[in-house]
Amino acid sequence: MVKVVIVGSVAFDDVKTPFGQVKMALGGSATFASVACSLFAEAGIVGVVGSDFPQEHIDFLKEKNVDLKGLEVKENGKTFHWKGEYGVDLNSAKTIQTDLNVLETFSPKIPEEYKDADFLFLGNIDPELQLKVLSQMNKRPGLVIADTMNLWIEIKKDKVLEVVKKVDLCLMNDGEARMLFNTSNLVKAAKEILALDSKIAIIKKGEHGCIMFSKDNYFSCPGYPLENVKDPTGAGDSFGGTLIGYLAKTNDFSEENMRKAIVYASCVASFNAEGFSVEKLKELTMQDVEKRYKEFEEIVKF
Ligand code: AMP
Repeated sequence: MVKVVIVGSVAFDDVKTPFGQVKMALGGSATFASVACSLFAEAGIVGVVGSDFPQEHIDFLKEKNVDLKGLEVKENGKTFHWKGEYGVDLNSAKTIQTDLNVLETFSPKIPEEYKDADFLFLGNIDPELQLKVLSQMNKRPGLVIADTMNLWIEIKKDKVLEVVKKVDLCLMNDGEARMLFNTSNLVKAAKEILALDSKIAIIKKGEHGCIMFSKDNYFSCPGYPLENVKDPTGAGDSFGGTLIGYLAKTNDFSEENMRKAIVYASCVASFNAEGFSVEKLKELTMQDVEKRYKEFEEIVKF
């Protein structure tokens, strides 16, 4: 049985950064999150692709031990397509084009064997779909994490807030948190998340790391000092996938273990940014991750 259910987009991405570009490369929030998660715990995707989605990508996901029973292949449909660009500031992507394609009419159906999973990751996708997936679970999973993005905050703010209310851990980047709660102050934004009943708020700050807030604790994790960033696309999703994967593996939600989960998530996200699309995740091993984890320990020691 899969341990972690992940809903999100499975996409073709066109991405341009100052260091190169790719066209129609494998992307999507569920793709990055599930591949990252599978380093720690078995993940199953709930998502949709079109009949144009190549077998090569299916094979890659299977090789990474990602369960695809919940991935619908829509006959005659076209896979979701996202086109984004980054300037010298790699912390925020500029969306040039979003073609929802098969996502436009997608109605998630969770396979029976996913419905009792204890860990659910609501990756970046229409918040109404996130809520639909949550409502289809047989029981409330022990841990539900949600991510989102600026587009949904712009067009479906109320639904995004409803998601925040229903999950245990809310993940968003600094710009999204400021936008959702109409404040420039991240401490205030995190407190708003907690006031909506989310037990933990994690705000990602791109290359500058992330901060975690709960009722009684605060933790700040630096970004890994990467010299060769190529493409940050999917860094947030691989962060989220690793976070839930590590928590599923250890089943320990203590403050100490949450901090470890965040450092593992930061390690995998930083590797992801060293290549375009899933280039780096393809070859990443636990040995690489453990090595970088140790470096993190050194970095934060004083
Ligand atoms: P991240 O860089 O972690 O925020 O996520 C980037 C990924 O999100 C890309 O691979 C895109 O395909 C995907 N993405 C972009 N826009 C959307 C959207 N509106 N809904 C779902 N996924 C999206």
